[in-house]
Amino acid sequence: MKNAHVIDSHSLTFVDSHCHLNYPDLFSDIDGVLKRALEHDIRYCLSINTRLSEIDALKKIADTYPQVFCTVGVHPHDAKDHGIADMLDQLAHHSTHPKVVGLGETGLDYYYDNSPREQQIESFEIHLDASTRLKLPIVIHTRDADADTLASIDKYPNATGVFHCFSGSVELAKAALDRGYYISFSGIITFKKAEELREVVGFTPADRILVETDSPFLAPIPHRGQPNQPAWTRVVAEKIAEIKGMPLGDVARITTENFFTLFSKAKRI
Ligand SMILES: [Zn+2]
Ligand SMILES: [Zn+2]
Repeated sequence: MKNAHVIDSHSLTFVDSHCHLNYPDLFSDIDGVLKRALEHDIRYCLSINTRLSEIDALKKIADTYPQVFCTVGVHPHDAKDHGIADMLDQLAHHSTHPKVVGLGETGLDYYYDNSPREQQIESFEIHLDASTRLKLPIVIHTRDADADTLASIDKYPNATGVFHCFSGSVELAKAALDRGYYISFSGIITFKKAEELREVVGFTPADRILVETDSPFLAPIPHRGQPNQPAWTRVVAEKIAEIKGMPLGDVARITTENFFTLFSKAKRI
């Protein structure tokens, strides 16, 4: 019994299902970043690829740290810099690595329009095709592109994945859930003006929710203005617990199970 407290404090496990550990704000202190994550019970991190030129750096991080997995894919912002012709082969090739457990992030971003929309759609549909062929989930980034995102998804009904850093409408969330996708919430749910998003958290079934930071971006309240870090996944989980009136332990257990169900190639250590 005298160890009960110690056991208790180590009983939670969270997964940061979306971070960018190779970006300078995190990579420059990666040992410290992962240590602080562990101190907050974030025992696994999925580091997300945005450009194929960075996949080798990501694989190296995942090879170095047992608790880190990674994805391979092309961000919609970067679609313009990637050839479409060999993209499917590249995704297939890199995903043979044992720590590459998913595809993306991919999707459509019509808010920034950093790549021409036609190229974003082509790249997104290659990832959807790859998800179907390789049986790996995709990480979807979508902003101001609801109709086109759903139209592409509907062409590949056997693809699976997650709408990451969800910041869309109630309607988009319902459409994603109807199609069997998971929804991942970030620190945005702590922002003052995110009332509709908290409504989405309220009705999304717990067994379809993932948690993430999208670090080094989007630090949650009360850490605004600082580089975000995986440790603050805990702030997101605490907010979900508060909104849903659930014990934090249940949020930890269920969202971690969800992660390993969706990203089934990832093995617990
Ligand atoms: Zn994103
Ligand atoms: Zn991201």
